[in-house]
Amino acid sequence: MICRQVVKQEETEAIACKLAAMLKPGDVICLSGDLGAGKTTFTKALGKALGVAEDITSPTFSLIQEYQGDLPLYHFDVYRLLKPSEFRDLGAEEYFDGDGVCVIEWANLVREYLPERHIWIEIKWLDPKRREICITPSENYGCEITKELGVT
Ligand code: ADP
Ligand code: MG
Repeated sequence: MICRQVVKQEETEAIACKLAAMLKPGDVICLSGDLGAGKTTFTKALGKALGVAEDITSPTFSLIQEYQGDLPLYHFDVYRLLKPSEFRDLGAEEYFDGDGVCVIEWANLVREYLPERHIWIEIKWLDPKRREICITPSENYGCEITKELGVT
């Protein structure tokens, strides 16, 4: 795991942008952190870097939004699920290992239904502008990416 402190939004966006450049089809990015931490902000920057022209919004009323970029981006926000198994029942698994990149906001709420192969990014709110961003690869995947993101 690597942790970085950022002091402004642009730095969070720069990390997302750097990550986007390293992603491949089938990659799954799990985001956690409180409301207002910056998960959607991170996703917007990642999408922009993936070439998504549309404005990425928080998919509050739908579980998932699909965007077309250089790679398809599947943006999940599972905050409003009543129970974790809904995530499975809605067919989330079909998106993993697929043709695009998955980003899951509030991934901590559906932990048991996530693919083993993922990169976990926790954003901690420190003050209105500062955040601590901790990135954890899974056992056999994402180590190089994590290392890269640890250097400015
Ligand atoms: P979440 O999706 O985690 O609920 P959002 O991305 O919607 O959070 O909101 C984060 C808010 O914090 C935005 O209004 C953004 O402008 C602001 N912000 C301020 N500083 C930062 C930072 N360093 N990183 C990310 N967001 C920041
Ligand atoms: Mg959000």
